[in-house]
Amino acid sequence: MPEVSTNLDVPGVALAIAAHPDDVEFGCGGTLAKWAAAGTRIHHLVCTDGSKGSWDPSEDVTQLVAVRQEEQRNASRALGGKGEVVFLGWSDGELESGLRQRWEVAYWIRTIQPDVVLGHDPWRRYRLHPDHRNAGFLATDGIVAARDPHFFPEQNVAPHRPKALLLWEADEPDHVEDVDGFVDTKLAALLEHRSQFRSTMRIDDPAATDEVEQFSSRIRTRLGEMGALAGLAQGEAFKLMPYL
Ligand SMILES: [Zn+2]
Repeated sequence: MPEVSTNLDVPGVALAIAAHPDDVEFGCGGTLAKWAAAGTRIHHLVCTDGSKGSWDPSEDVTQLVAVRQEEQRNASRALGGKGEVVFLGWSDGELESGLRQRWEVAYWIRTIQPDVVLGHDPWRRYRLHPDHRNAGFLATDGIVAARDPHFFPEQNVAPHRPKALLLWEADEPDHVEDVDGFVDTKLAALLEHRSQFRSTMRIDDPAATDEVEQFSSRIRTRLGEMGALAGLAQGEAFKLMPYL
């Protein structure tokens, strides 16, 4: 068990890079809410269009994509985010971590100039979903390209080196952000993703308060487990990569 650090200095700008709408809120919503309340400018970068996010075979996929983008914007606002909510629009389930995608992620890192980047841990063992793995690699590889001037010079945007990368769902968590006091905000942001109630949150009927409460309870339990890594009541755990 590695030594666990807590609570980075509050960054001026944070960028969360995710595969799908809702991943950021699950992975680091409490941390972003805490930072936003302290004045951090919060940005979202969502790599796919979320078009596989329904169990209904007759779902209108074009409509679903539009709904999920709106939900993501609302969730960002619920966290206190005032920055960009960028959608790269790659097909859900088919995200690759190739050069074209890396080009786009590096461009946005250079443009947004985050102090801290947050993303999926691409090295988490036995991770099933390829988008989460590939979005994780796009965060790591995008940082390398963004910081070094000879990558993609045609972008005509100055290189940018973030100070830290936090990877959520970490295989080897070694850093916890205290999110006590910001759990309700994380939950409110998660519950903006109404199209995902059934498939992701096990809420069949949004009016069924017991189902919503059970979902909230599962999140609180998980945050309690992650907080316990650092002796905190409620926390979000990450792998911290501090030297970029
Ligand atoms: Zn996802």
